[in-house]
Amino acid sequence: MTAKISRRDLLKLSGLAAGGLALGFGTPRRVIAGSDYTHHGGDPSQRNSYFDSLKQYIPGSETLDPDEMRLSFMGTSCIPSLSQAAVSVFVELGNGECFMFDCGTGVTPKYFALGATLDKMSKIFLAHNHSDHMGDLPYVYAFGQSFGRVWPLYVWGPARSGFVWKDPDGKYPLGKKPLEDGAADICAALKKFCIWHTESQSFMYTSINSYDVPKPWDTTGSRCKDAYDIVVKELPWRNTGKDSHGFANHDNIAYHDRSKGVKITHFPAVHCREGAVSYKLEWNGLSMIYSGDTKPNQYMIEQAKSGVDVLIHEMVVPADVWVKKLGLPDTQASIDGAQAVQDSSHTPQKALGYILNQIDQQGTAPRLAVGTHFQATDDTIKAALKDIRTWYPKGDVAVASDFVVVNVSKRKGPTVRRAVVSDYAWPQAPVPAAEDCATPKYWKYSDETKTTKVQAPEAQLDPNALVIDPDLYNAR
Ligand SMILES: [Zn+2]
Repeated sequence: MTAKISRRDLLKLSGLAAGGLALGFGTPRRVIAGSDYTHHGGDPSQRNSYFDSLKQYIPGSETLDPDEMRLSFMGTSCIPSLSQAAVSVFVELGNGECFMFDCGTGVTPKYFALGATLDKMSKIFLAHNHSDHMGDLPYVYAFGQSFGRVWPLYVWGPARSGFVWKDPDGKYPLGKKPLEDGAADICAALKKFCIWHTESQSFMYTSINSYDVPKPWDTTGSRCKDAYDIVVKELPWRNTGKDSHGFANHDNIAYHDRSKGVKITHFPAVHCREGAVSYKLEWNGLSMIYSGDTKPNQYMIEQAKSGVDVLIHEMVVPADVWVKKLGLPDTQASIDGAQAVQDSSHTPQKALGYILNQIDQQGTAPRLAVGTHFQATDDTIKAALKDIRTWYPKGDVAVASDFVVVNVSKRKGPTVRRAVVSDYAWPQAPVPAAEDCATPKYWKYSDETKTTKVQAPEAQLDPNALVIDPDLYNAR
Protein backbone atom coordinates (compact mmCIF):
# COMPACT_ATOMS: atom_id res chain seq x y z
CA MET A 1 0.00 0.00 0.00
CA THR A 2 1.35 3.41 -0.89
CA ALA A 3 0.98 6.04 1.79
CA LYS A 4 0.03 9.52 0.72
CA ILE A 5 2.69 12.19 0.89
CA SER A 6 1.34 15.70 1.11
CA ARG A 7 2.67 18.54 -1.03
CA ARG A 8 4.05 20.19 2.10
CA ASP A 9 5.96 17.05 3.06
CA LEU A 10 7.37 16.81 -0.44
CA LEU A 11 8.52 20.41 -0.29
CA LYS A 12 10.10 19.76 3.07
CA LEU A 13 11.89 16.68 1.83
CA SER A 14 13.10 18.32 -1.40
CA GLY A 15 14.23 21.33 0.63
CA LEU A 16 16.27 18.97 2.79
CA ALA A 17 18.02 17.42 -0.21
CA ALA A 18 18.70 20.84 -1.73
CA GLY A 19 20.03 22.10 1.59
CA GLY A 20 22.46 19.19 1.73
CA LEU A 21 23.71 19.81 -1.79
CA ALA A 22 24.05 23.55 -1.23
CA LEU A 23 26.42 22.81 1.62
CA GLY A 24 28.58 20.69 -0.59
CA PHE A 25 27.43 17.21 0.33
CA GLY A 26 27.17 15.17 -2.80
CA THR A 27 25.29 12.27 -1.26
CA PRO A 28 21.65 12.58 -0.24
CA ARG A 29 21.21 12.89 3.50
CA ARG A 30 18.10 11.99 5.34
CA VAL A 31 16.64 12.83 8.68
CA ILE A 32 17.15 9.96 11.09
CA ALA A 33 14.21 10.22 13.41
CA GLY A 34 10.58 10.56 12.63
CA SER A 35 10.48 11.75 9.05
CA ASP A 36 9.72 8.55 7.29
CA TYR A 37 6.41 9.76 5.94
CA THR A 38 5.74 6.56 4.09
CA HIS A 39 5.47 4.45 7.23
CA HIS A 40 3.84 6.24 10.09
CA GLY A 41 0.44 6.56 8.39
CA GLY A 42 -0.38 9.54 10.59
CA ASP A 43 0.03 7.51 13.78
CA PRO A 44 1.31 9.93 16.47
CA SER A 45 3.21 7.10 18.15
CA GLN A 46 5.27 6.60 15.00
CA ARG A 47 6.63 10.07 14.39
CA ASN A 48 8.39 12.93 16.11
CA SER A 49 7.10 16.12 14.49
CA TYR A 50 8.88 18.21 17.10
CA PHE A 51 12.23 16.87 15.94
CA ASP A 52 11.27 17.29 12.30
CA SER A 53 10.29 20.90 12.90
CA LEU A 54 13.73 21.87 14.23
CA LYS A 55 16.17 23.78 12.07
CA GLN A 56 18.98 21.74 10.56
CA TYR A 57 22.52 21.56 11.76
CA ILE A 58 25.04 19.95 9.44
CA PRO A 59 27.88 18.55 11.58
CA GLY A 60 31.24 19.87 10.50
CA SER A 61 29.73 22.86 8.75
CA GLU A 62 30.41 25.38 11.51
CA THR A 63 33.05 25.92 14.16
CA LEU A 64 32.13 26.89 17.69
CA ASP A 65 32.76 30.45 18.79
CA PRO A 66 35.47 30.58 21.48
CA ASP A 67 32.80 31.24 24.11
CA GLU A 68 30.21 28.78 22.79
CA MET A 69 29.13 25.35 24.02
CA ARG A 70 27.36 22.68 21.99
CA LEU A 71 25.39 19.84 23.57
CA SER A 72 24.50 16.96 21.27
CA PHE A 73 22.05 14.34 22.40
CA MET A 74 23.44 11.08 21.06
CA GLY A 75 21.28 8.63 23.00
CA THR A 76 18.08 9.62 24.70
CA SER A 77 16.07 6.59 25.82
CA CYS A 78 16.53 3.92 28.45
CA ILE A 79 14.85 1.54 25.98
CA PRO A 80 16.91 1.68 22.80
CA SER A 81 15.04 1.93 19.50
CA LEU A 82 16.20 2.63 15.95
CA SER A 83 15.38 6.29 16.47
CA GLN A 84 16.73 6.59 20.02
CA ALA A 85 19.83 4.84 21.35
CA ALA A 86 20.38 4.50 25.09
CA VAL A 87 21.72 7.43 26.99
CA SER A 88 24.59 9.77 26.14
CA VAL A 89 25.18 13.50 25.88
CA PHE A 90 28.19 14.89 24.00
CA VAL A 91 29.48 18.26 25.18
CA GLU A 92 31.82 20.32 23.02
CA LEU A 93 33.36 23.57 24.21
CA GLY A 94 34.67 26.46 22.14
CA ASN A 95 38.16 25.83 23.55
CA GLY A 96 38.32 22.46 21.78
CA GLU A 97 37.58 20.31 24.83
CA CYS A 98 34.86 17.67 24.69
CA PHE A 99 33.23 15.34 27.16
CA MET A 100 30.77 12.45 27.13
CA PHE A 101 28.14 12.06 29.76
CA ASP A 102 27.20 8.36 29.78
CA CYS A 103 27.88 5.86 27.03
CA GLY A 104 24.64 3.97 26.48
CA THR A 105 23.86 1.07 24.19
CA GLY A 106 23.90 2.03 20.53
CA VAL A 107 25.48 5.47 20.73
CA THR A 108 28.74 4.69 18.93
CA PRO A 109 27.34 4.82 15.38
CA LYS A 110 25.57 8.04 16.27
CA TYR A 111 28.85 9.63 17.39
CA PHE A 112 30.55 8.39 14.23
CA ALA A 113 27.74 9.85 12.12
CA LEU A 114 28.16 13.17 13.93
CA GLY A 115 31.85 13.09 13.02
CA ALA A 116 33.08 12.34 16.55
CA THR A 117 35.57 9.47 16.59
CA LEU A 118 36.95 7.71 19.66
CA ASP A 119 39.59 10.38 20.29
CA LYS A 120 36.66 12.68 21.05
CA MET A 121 34.98 10.00 23.15
CA SER A 122 37.81 9.55 25.60
CA LYS A 123 36.54 11.41 28.67
CA ILE A 124 33.41 9.67 29.91
CA PHE A 125 31.41 10.64 32.97
CA LEU A 126 29.09 7.86 34.12
CA ALA A 127 26.01 8.87 36.08
CA HIS A 128 25.56 5.34 37.42
CA ASN A 129 26.26 1.81 36.39
CA HIS A 130 23.04 0.74 34.68
CA SER A 131 23.76 -0.81 31.31
CA ASP A 132 21.66 1.72 29.39
CA HIS A 133 24.26 4.28 30.52
CA MET A 134 27.39 2.24 29.79
CA GLY A 135 26.37 -0.40 27.26
CA ASP A 136 28.69 0.87 24.53
CA LEU A 137 31.78 0.95 26.75
CA PRO A 138 33.18 -2.35 25.40
CA TYR A 139 33.33 -0.96 21.86
CA VAL A 140 34.51 2.51 22.86
CA TYR A 141 37.22 1.01 25.06
CA ALA A 142 38.41 -1.85 22.89
CA PHE A 143 38.43 -0.11 19.51
CA GLY A 144 40.09 3.06 20.81
CA GLN A 145 43.34 2.54 18.92
CA SER A 146 41.49 1.78 15.67
CA PHE A 147 39.48 4.98 15.66
CA GLY A 148 41.63 7.78 17.02
CA ARG A 149 42.32 7.20 20.72
CA VAL A 150 45.91 6.05 21.07
CA TRP A 151 45.94 6.87 24.76
CA PRO A 152 43.98 5.62 27.79
CA LEU A 153 40.25 5.86 28.18
CA TYR A 154 39.31 8.20 31.05
CA VAL A 155 36.27 7.27 33.09
CA TRP A 156 34.67 9.10 35.98
CA GLY A 157 31.91 7.45 37.96
CA PRO A 158 30.51 6.83 41.42
CA ALA A 159 32.65 4.97 43.96
CA ARG A 160 31.31 1.76 45.50
CA SER A 161 27.82 2.12 46.88
CA GLY A 162 28.77 0.52 50.19
CA PHE A 163 25.22 -0.70 50.38
CA VAL A 164 24.50 -3.76 52.53
CA TRP A 165 21.03 -5.22 52.72
CA LYS A 166 19.50 -6.48 55.92
CA ASP A 167 16.22 -8.16 55.07
CA PRO A 168 13.00 -7.37 56.96
CA ASP A 169 13.76 -10.31 59.29
CA GLY A 170 16.96 -8.56 60.31
CA LYS A 171 19.23 -11.02 58.47
CA TYR A 172 22.11 -10.31 56.11
CA PRO A 173 20.97 -12.62 53.32
CA LEU A 174 23.68 -11.42 50.96
CA GLY A 175 26.44 -11.20 53.52
CA LYS A 176 27.72 -8.19 55.40
CA LYS A 177 30.26 -7.23 52.79
CA PRO A 178 29.21 -4.57 50.27
CA LEU A 179 29.48 -5.44 46.60
CA GLU A 180 32.37 -4.40 44.40
CA ASP A 181 30.13 -2.12 42.38
CA GLY A 182 32.10 1.12 41.94
CA ALA A 183 33.45 2.69 38.75
CA ALA A 184 36.91 1.13 39.22
CA ASP A 185 35.33 -2.32 39.65
CA ILE A 186 33.28 -1.83 36.51
CA CYS A 187 36.33 -0.71 34.52
CA ALA A 188 38.43 -3.64 35.77
CA ALA A 189 35.63 -5.96 34.68
CA LEU A 190 35.49 -4.18 31.32
CA LYS A 191 39.17 -4.85 30.74
CA LYS A 192 38.61 -8.52 31.52
CA PHE A 193 35.52 -8.67 29.33
CA CYS A 194 37.55 -7.34 26.40
CA ILE A 195 40.73 -9.37 27.02
CA TRP A 196 40.52 -11.54 23.88
CA HIS A 197 39.77 -8.46 21.81
CA THR A 198 42.56 -6.28 23.16
CA GLU A 199 45.14 -9.06 23.06
CA SER A 200 44.20 -10.08 19.52
CA GLN A 201 44.68 -6.51 18.31
CA SER A 202 47.86 -5.84 20.22
CA PHE A 203 49.81 -6.11 17.00
CA MET A 204 48.48 -2.60 16.31
CA TYR A 205 49.93 0.66 17.54
CA THR A 206 48.28 1.25 20.89
CA SER A 207 50.36 4.01 22.40
CA ILE A 208 52.20 7.18 21.44
CA ASN A 209 55.72 7.60 22.81
CA SER A 210 55.31 11.25 23.72
CA TYR A 211 51.99 10.82 25.55
CA ASP A 212 51.77 11.21 29.29
CA VAL A 213 48.65 10.97 31.42
CA PRO A 214 47.94 14.53 32.56
CA LYS A 215 49.06 14.95 36.18
CA PRO A 216 45.71 15.58 37.86
CA TRP A 217 44.32 12.28 36.56
CA ASP A 218 47.37 10.09 36.98
CA THR A 219 46.01 8.99 40.32
CA THR A 220 47.80 5.66 40.29
CA GLY A 221 51.22 7.13 39.58
CA SER A 222 51.62 4.29 37.10
CA ARG A 223 52.83 4.80 33.58
CA CYS A 224 49.58 3.80 31.97
CA LYS A 225 49.52 5.47 28.60
CA ASP A 226 48.20 2.73 26.38
CA ALA A 227 44.85 2.66 24.55
CA TYR A 228 44.04 -0.48 26.54
CA ASP A 229 44.58 1.28 29.86
CA ILE A 230 41.69 2.92 31.66
CA VAL A 231 42.26 5.83 34.01
CA VAL A 232 39.40 5.82 36.50
CA LYS A 233 38.42 8.49 38.96
CA GLU A 234 35.89 7.35 41.51
CA LEU A 235 33.53 9.93 42.94
CA PRO A 236 32.29 10.09 46.52
CA TRP A 237 28.70 10.07 45.36
CA ARG A 238 27.17 11.43 48.58
CA ASN A 239 29.11 14.67 48.42
CA THR A 240 27.40 17.91 47.47
CA GLY A 241 30.20 20.47 47.70
CA LYS A 242 28.93 21.67 51.05
CA ASP A 243 29.44 20.55 54.63
CA SER A 244 26.64 19.73 57.06
CA HIS A 245 26.38 23.42 57.99
CA GLY A 246 25.88 24.42 54.39
CA PHE A 247 29.35 25.90 53.91
CA ALA A 248 31.20 25.23 50.68
CA ASN A 249 33.88 22.58 51.05
CA HIS A 250 34.34 21.70 47.35
CA ASP A 251 34.30 17.98 48.06
CA ASN A 252 32.43 17.18 44.85
CA ILE A 253 34.88 18.11 42.12
CA ALA A 254 35.12 15.38 39.51
CA TYR A 255 37.27 17.27 37.04
CA HIS A 256 38.99 20.63 37.18
CA ASP A 257 41.27 21.84 34.42
CA ARG A 258 42.31 25.26 35.64
CA SER A 259 44.29 26.08 32.53
CA LYS A 260 41.19 25.66 30.42
CA GLY A 261 38.73 26.82 33.06
CA VAL A 262 36.60 23.67 32.92
CA LYS A 263 35.06 22.36 36.11
CA ILE A 264 32.78 19.35 36.43
CA THR A 265 31.20 18.67 39.79
CA HIS A 266 28.85 15.93 40.92
CA PHE A 267 26.00 15.67 43.39
CA PRO A 268 23.74 12.82 44.47
CA ALA A 269 21.07 11.37 42.22
CA VAL A 270 18.45 9.17 43.84
CA HIS A 271 18.16 6.21 41.55
CA CYS A 272 17.38 2.56 42.17
CA ARG A 273 20.37 1.90 44.46
CA GLU A 274 22.85 3.98 46.38
CA GLY A 275 25.72 5.25 44.27
CA ALA A 276 24.28 7.40 41.46
CA VAL A 277 25.20 10.98 40.62
CA SER A 278 24.22 13.99 38.55
CA TYR A 279 26.83 16.30 37.03
CA LYS A 280 27.29 20.01 36.56
CA LEU A 281 29.74 21.39 34.01
CA GLU A 282 30.93 24.99 34.30
CA TRP A 283 33.09 26.77 31.77
CA ASN A 284 33.63 30.34 30.73
CA GLY A 285 30.55 31.62 32.55
CA LEU A 286 28.37 28.90 30.99
CA SER A 287 26.97 25.90 32.78
CA MET A 288 24.89 22.82 32.23
CA ILE A 289 23.49 20.18 34.53
CA TYR A 290 23.02 16.57 33.47
CA SER A 291 20.76 14.70 35.87
CA GLY A 292 21.49 11.15 34.75
CA ASP A 293 18.63 9.06 36.12
CA THR A 294 17.00 10.15 39.31
CA LYS A 295 13.89 10.44 41.34
CA PRO A 296 12.81 14.04 41.85
CA ASN A 297 15.15 15.44 44.50
CA GLN A 298 16.11 18.58 46.37
CA TYR A 299 19.81 18.32 45.45
CA MET A 300 18.83 19.28 41.91
CA ILE A 301 16.90 22.37 43.01
CA GLU A 302 19.81 23.39 45.23
CA GLN A 303 22.43 22.89 42.51
CA ALA A 304 20.38 24.79 39.94
CA LYS A 305 20.30 27.78 42.28
CA SER A 306 23.32 29.23 40.54
CA GLY A 307 21.21 29.60 37.38
CA VAL A 308 22.36 27.14 34.74
CA ASP A 309 22.17 27.76 31.03
CA VAL A 310 20.91 24.29 30.16
CA LEU A 311 19.31 21.86 32.59
CA ILE A 312 19.14 18.35 31.16
CA HIS A 313 16.80 16.24 33.25
CA GLU A 314 15.39 12.78 32.84
CA MET A 315 11.66 12.21 32.73
CA VAL A 316 9.50 9.15 32.39
CA VAL A 317 6.16 8.51 30.69
CA PRO A 318 3.35 7.46 33.06
CA ALA A 319 3.30 3.79 34.13
CA ASP A 320 0.15 2.97 32.16
CA VAL A 321 1.76 4.33 28.98
CA TRP A 322 4.82 2.15 29.62
CA VAL A 323 2.58 -0.89 29.96
CA LYS A 324 0.74 -0.10 26.75
CA LYS A 325 3.88 0.65 24.73
CA LEU A 326 5.61 -2.49 25.98
CA GLY A 327 2.60 -4.62 25.01
CA LEU A 328 2.13 -5.88 28.56
CA PRO A 329 -1.26 -7.23 29.68
CA ASP A 330 -3.69 -4.40 30.34
CA THR A 331 -4.05 -5.21 34.05
CA GLN A 332 -3.59 -3.36 37.31
CA ALA A 333 -0.77 -5.78 38.17
CA SER A 334 1.15 -4.66 35.08
CA ILE A 335 0.66 -1.01 35.92
CA ASP A 336 1.69 -1.63 39.54
CA GLY A 337 4.83 -3.40 38.33
CA ALA A 338 5.77 -0.52 36.03
CA GLN A 339 4.94 1.99 38.75
CA ALA A 340 7.23 0.17 41.19
CA VAL A 341 10.17 0.56 38.78
CA GLN A 342 9.38 4.22 38.24
CA ASP A 343 9.00 4.89 41.97
CA SER A 344 12.42 3.40 42.66
CA SER A 345 14.15 5.34 39.97
CA HIS A 346 12.61 8.06 37.86
CA THR A 347 11.11 11.53 37.54
CA PRO A 348 7.47 11.74 36.41
CA GLN A 349 6.75 14.44 33.84
CA LYS A 350 4.76 16.50 36.30
CA ALA A 351 7.59 16.28 38.83
CA LEU A 352 9.97 17.76 36.28
CA GLY A 353 7.54 20.64 35.92
CA TYR A 354 7.51 21.01 39.69
CA ILE A 355 11.31 21.02 39.91
CA LEU A 356 11.52 23.70 37.21
CA ASN A 357 8.88 25.70 39.05
CA GLN A 358 10.86 25.49 42.29
CA ILE A 359 14.03 26.61 40.55
CA ASP A 360 12.09 29.43 38.92
CA GLN A 361 10.78 30.45 42.36
CA GLN A 362 14.42 30.89 43.39
CA GLY A 363 14.71 33.33 40.51
CA THR A 364 17.16 31.16 38.63
CA ALA A 365 15.18 29.29 35.98
CA PRO A 366 17.50 27.65 33.44
CA ARG A 367 17.70 29.35 30.07
CA LEU A 368 16.64 26.02 28.60
CA ALA A 369 15.35 22.82 30.19
CA VAL A 370 15.67 19.58 28.21
CA GLY A 371 13.74 16.43 29.04
CA THR A 372 15.58 13.26 28.09
CA HIS A 373 15.70 9.49 28.78
CA PHE A 374 12.23 9.68 27.26
CA GLN A 375 10.67 7.89 24.29
CA ALA A 376 9.91 10.93 22.17
CA THR A 377 7.00 10.62 19.76
CA ASP A 378 4.11 12.98 19.03
CA ASP A 379 1.80 11.31 21.55
CA THR A 380 4.30 11.16 24.43
CA ILE A 381 5.74 14.62 23.81
CA LYS A 382 2.32 16.25 23.82
CA ALA A 383 1.38 14.63 27.13
CA ALA A 384 4.76 15.40 28.71
CA LEU A 385 4.67 19.07 27.77
CA LYS A 386 1.14 19.33 29.16
CA ASP A 387 2.34 17.89 32.50
CA ILE A 388 5.45 20.08 32.63
CA ARG A 389 3.44 23.19 31.76
CA THR A 390 1.09 22.52 34.68
CA TRP A 391 3.90 23.78 36.89
CA TYR A 392 6.18 25.62 34.52
CA PRO A 393 4.09 27.51 32.00
CA LYS A 394 6.64 29.90 30.51
CA GLY A 395 10.29 28.83 30.52
CA ASP A 396 11.91 27.27 27.46
CA VAL A 397 11.61 23.50 27.38
CA ALA A 398 12.90 21.08 24.75
CA VAL A 399 12.42 17.34 24.43
CA ALA A 400 15.52 15.41 23.48
CA SER A 401 15.73 12.69 20.91
CA ASP A 402 18.88 11.51 19.17
CA PHE A 403 20.63 14.25 17.19
CA VAL A 404 18.90 17.11 18.95
CA VAL A 405 21.69 19.69 19.26
CA VAL A 406 21.76 22.73 21.54
CA ASN A 407 24.19 25.61 21.03
CA VAL A 408 24.60 28.21 23.71
CA SER A 409 26.84 31.12 24.57
CA LYS A 410 26.24 34.07 26.87
CA ARG A 411 25.27 36.20 23.88
CA LYS A 412 23.48 33.63 21.76
CA GLY A 413 20.90 30.93 22.22
CA PRO A 414 20.20 28.47 23.54
CA THR A 415 19.39 27.33 20.01
CA VAL A 416 17.81 23.92 19.53
CA ARG A 417 18.41 22.22 16.19
CA ARG A 418 18.57 18.75 14.70
CA ALA A 419 21.76 17.31 13.27
CA VAL A 420 21.36 15.93 9.78
CA VAL A 421 23.73 13.02 9.31
CA SER A 422 24.41 10.18 6.94
CA ASP A 423 23.23 6.66 7.68
CA TYR A 424 26.34 5.48 5.88
CA ALA A 425 29.04 7.49 7.64
CA TRP A 426 32.45 5.93 8.28
CA PRO A 427 34.53 7.20 11.18
CA GLN A 428 37.18 9.65 9.96
CA ALA A 429 39.71 9.13 12.71
CA PRO A 430 43.22 10.60 12.82
CA VAL A 431 45.98 7.98 12.56
CA PRO A 432 49.32 8.59 14.29
CA ALA A 433 52.54 7.98 12.36
CA ALA A 434 54.12 4.60 13.13
CA GLU A 435 57.41 6.26 14.13
CA ASP A 436 55.60 8.23 16.84
CA CYS A 437 54.20 5.05 18.39
CA ALA A 438 55.62 2.50 20.76
CA THR A 439 56.51 -0.88 19.26
CA PRO A 440 53.39 -3.06 19.35
CA LYS A 441 53.34 -6.00 21.73
CA TYR A 442 53.23 -8.45 18.80
CA TRP A 443 56.06 -7.40 16.49
CA LYS A 444 58.58 -8.87 14.09
CA TYR A 445 61.67 -7.70 12.25
CA SER A 446 60.86 -6.09 8.92
CA ASP A 447 61.35 -8.43 5.96
CA GLU A 448 63.13 -5.62 4.13
CA THR A 449 65.42 -3.96 6.65
CA LYS A 450 65.75 -7.01 8.94
CA THR A 451 66.35 -4.59 11.82
CA THR A 452 63.19 -2.44 12.02
CA LYS A 453 60.51 -3.69 14.37
CA VAL A 454 57.13 -3.79 12.60
CA GLN A 455 53.65 -5.11 13.34
CA ALA A 456 53.11 -8.86 13.38
CA PRO A 457 49.42 -9.23 12.54
CA GLU A 458 49.61 -13.00 12.11
CA ALA A 459 51.62 -13.75 15.22
CA GLN A 460 48.63 -15.03 17.16
CA LEU A 461 47.16 -17.25 14.45
CA ASP A 462 47.31 -21.02 14.65
CA PRO A 463 50.34 -21.88 12.44
CA ASN A 464 48.62 -25.12 11.45
CA ALA A 465 45.29 -23.51 10.46
CA LEU A 466 43.98 -24.57 7.06
CA VAL A 467 44.24 -21.18 5.35
CA ILE A 468 43.55 -20.87 1.62
CA ASP A 469 46.59 -19.72 -0.33
CA PRO A 470 45.84 -16.27 -1.91
CA ASP A 471 47.40 -17.53 -5.13
CA LEU A 472 44.38 -19.80 -5.48
CA TYR A 473 41.63 -17.14 -5.31
CA ASN A 474 43.73 -14.51 -7.03
CA ALA A 475 44.24 -16.82 -10.00
CA ARG A 476 41.25 -15.15 -11.69
ZN1 LIG B 1 19.43 3.90 35.46
